[in-house]
Amino acid sequence: MRKPVIAIDGYSSTGKSSISKIIAQRLGLVHMDTGALYRGITYFAIKNCSDADGAIDLDLLFSKLNEIKLRFKEVETELVLFLNDSDISKEIRSNEVSSHVSLIACQKEVRDFLMETQRSIASNGGVIMDGRDIGTVVLPDADYKFFLTASIEERTKRRFLELQGMGMGSNEDEVRQNLITRDKIDSTREVAPLKQAHDAILIDNSKLTKQETIALILSYIKEF
Ligand code: C5P
Repeated sequence: MRKPVIAIDGYSSTGKSSISKIIAQRLGLVHMDTGALYRGITYFAIKNCSDADGAIDLDLLFSKLNEIKLRFKEVETELVLFLNDSDISKEIRSNEVSSHVSLIACQKEVRDFLMETQRSIASNGGVIMDGRDIGTVVLPDADYKFFLTASIEERTKRRFLELQGMGMGSNEDEVRQNLITRDKIDSTREVAPLKQAHDAILIDNSKLTKQETIALILSYIKEF
């Protein structure tokens, strides 16, 4: 039987990626964290397309998109993002990348560039993909769609702890402001805005643990 395609969208720091990763392991699916792809392009842009004041030259980025090869490789059971031949899995979580990524993700050229990578992974089924527009635009025919949300306080706490866990200094106010700004840009952009698909199941996990959220999602998935 064909394995399902599962789309998990939602606000920043609702646990989409870590939850998807565990569900993928439980169900034997491939997991794709699409936010990492947008972060990878942003990291490339900061390194290669910034002017002296640190502003990103978008036209220069568009002209260099064909130089970008983003691939996930399995390293000791972890999926690690490589940009060309470099492991950038830690760099893409930096505050600098977080503060530019939503502006890069607004660009139609960037979204079109990443569309094929995302769709080709899902074409044979057996995938769980998390992001902002998976259920609405990338995989509108997904077998299951979930939309995650949580209070800003809870999300700030989670992202702050995640950054600390990676040894990346940060302050809670900055983290909170970055989440609010990103959510606003992501939900109001013209191309593929962040929104709940009409057929997605809404889950507010402000008061749920990660394990409870996983159990709730799994309760909707039929055996295959
Ligand atoms: O999921 P994560 O927080 O790492 O995503 C980083 C950013 O990438 C989001 O704030 C959003 O701007 C962008 N993104 C997107 N579409 C996706 C996944 C992420 O626009 N499918």
